[in-house]
Amino acid sequence: MNDLDQLYQQVILDHAKARSGSPLQEAAAGHRHGESHQHNPICGDQIKVRVELDDSGNLGKISWEGEGCSISMASASVLTELATGLSRDDFMDKLSVFREMMRSRGAATPDEEVLEDAAAFVGVSKFPARVKCAMLSWVATEAALLAANG
Ligand code: ZN
Repeated sequence: MNDLDQLYQQVILDHAKARSGSPLQEAAAGHRHGESHQHNPICGDQIKVRVELDDSGNLGKISWEGEGCSISMASASVLTELATGLSRDDFMDKLSVFREMMRSRGAATPDEEVLEDAAAFVGVSKFPARVKCAMLSWVATEAALLAANG
């Protein structure tokens, strides 16, 4: 394993422990919010994400609860830090960059400016069975955002 792989693995382990955004928070009264529950049958991961929009319609608050492997839990934590405060369009842009990286089967060079700690999941993209683990919280957030927008 090279130094970068080791660094990325450490990022994932740290986030799996710290779990930014967990547990789930009640949405503030008067704010639009949406939630989504997603299940990954391959690995058994479960996650429920709640997105609360701020007055400008941005992702004001993201919170979640879940159970599953380190990759799925770390990805939700990274996503919370990365996506909080973003506009819907900026979130969708990052989602498509992340999805493209996860479909690369290890071939992508991650854009750390766009993905920040989410770049650490590039190694996971070599293992097709684990890609869903890393994508689960992103898919849940996208669905929660759609629900919040009615
Ligand atoms: Zn998993």
